[in-house]
Amino acid sequence: MNTSKKPSQKHPQSAPSKSQRPQVRPTAEGWKQPMGPDGRPTLQFAQRPRVKQPPQHLADMTLAERQEKMKELGLPAFRAKQVSTHYFQHYTDQTEEMTDLPKDKREAIGEAFFPPLLAEVRRLVTDDGATIKFLWRLFDGALVESVLMRYPNRITLCISSQCGCGMNCPFCATGQNGLTRNMSTAEIIDQIVKANRVIAEGGLGKIRGDDQPQARVNNIVFMGMGEPLANYKRVMNAVHRMIADAPEGLGMSARGITISTVGLEPGIRKLAAENLQVRFALSLHAPDDDLRDDLIPVNSRWKVDEVLDAAYNYFETTGRRVSIEYALIKDMNDHAWRADLLAKKLNERGRGWAHVNPIPLNPTPGSIWTSSTKEVTREFIQRLEAAGIPTTLRDTRGKEIDGACGQLAAAE
Ligand code: SF4
Repeated sequence: MNTSKKPSQKHPQSAPSKSQRPQVRPTAEGWKQPMGPDGRPTLQFAQRPRVKQPPQHLADMTLAERQEKMKELGLPAFRAKQVSTHYFQHYTDQTEEMTDLPKDKREAIGEAFFPPLLAEVRRLVTDDGATIKFLWRLFDGALVESVLMRYPNRITLCISSQCGCGMNCPFCATGQNGLTRNMSTAEIIDQIVKANRVIAEGGLGKIRGDDQPQARVNNIVFMGMGEPLANYKRVMNAVHRMIADAPEGLGMSARGITISTVGLEPGIRKLAAENLQVRFALSLHAPDDDLRDDLIPVNSRWKVDEVLDAAYNYFETTGRRVSIEYALIKDMNDHAWRADLLAKKLNERGRGWAHVNPIPLNPTPGSIWTSSTKEVTREFIQRLEAAGIPTTLRDTRGKEIDGACGQLAAAE
């Protein structure tokens, strides 16, 4: 337990447990969580003023805006569709490869539409080539990651939406330096285009039972670096670019996009009002405020019941079942009574509206952030199922390369 963390006696060393099992309290290991004057972990909802954003890129603009820009360059509007096709369908931003553009204009078009955004720093490959973790350097030196995963019937990319993060979760080193800045729409999109290029060049191996050359990312999860709902506008623009038909965008299905949050209640309601068919995932990890206040510090702002109400509203508005992410952490949040409480809170709001995904952690000897035992995991799932809650233990791909993402949730 973290004794230096809070001045209050709210969480004494041996908190009375509702079961015979011990109660481990969340605390950062190997780094210090920034604390505010109230003794609570600091939260940062916006980037600092005057943080420089990257130059405007084709993917920041709608098709109409690209056409305008072409006209400003003294070129006909139809050139906008041509460059969009190169970028979104051929995955290139190199204008010298765009042979249908006038040769003497390629450089100017490149400068106007394709400032370099993501430079690959490192690529780690695992799972026999089916998982790749990319480390990207952005224009200002900030580093972000994305993880590409090939499954038999889909290709998933876990993407980042912010440089750093202001949510200060004790299990996540991303948050330790706070939020540097929001990623731009184009920086978010360029992760997908770059991944598609790697797939097209054969970098992700062959799709099993299928050697179609058009294989590309068809599943997006916002579970990389950052809290997507804290960068709402740019994330939503990116979603619109993903689902816009080619050549305006990537022509992806909204149903293949998952937006995940630690619980920014107003953002969840705003997202519901968009009434898109994107999948919504709430990283809950605890059904009680007492634990969640420490495990997910933003819970001090919006409590479990408030975020569950907002999640239920998402289901009611969109008709899409909500995913509740729940990493099982030994003796911290895996008690049987918590499974019962979670089921009760979900059932109180309705039936069949939420699906719980317990996520197994890696065994980490000596750490408080370690996996629950098999028996405890089984019981936790059984209790949820007995209460009628659809529950699926998640696969945690990519952990060998530490690709498991920031919200303790591996991307599928
Ligand atoms: S877990 Fe997610 S929300 Fe929490 S600090 Fe890390 S990136 Fe931010």
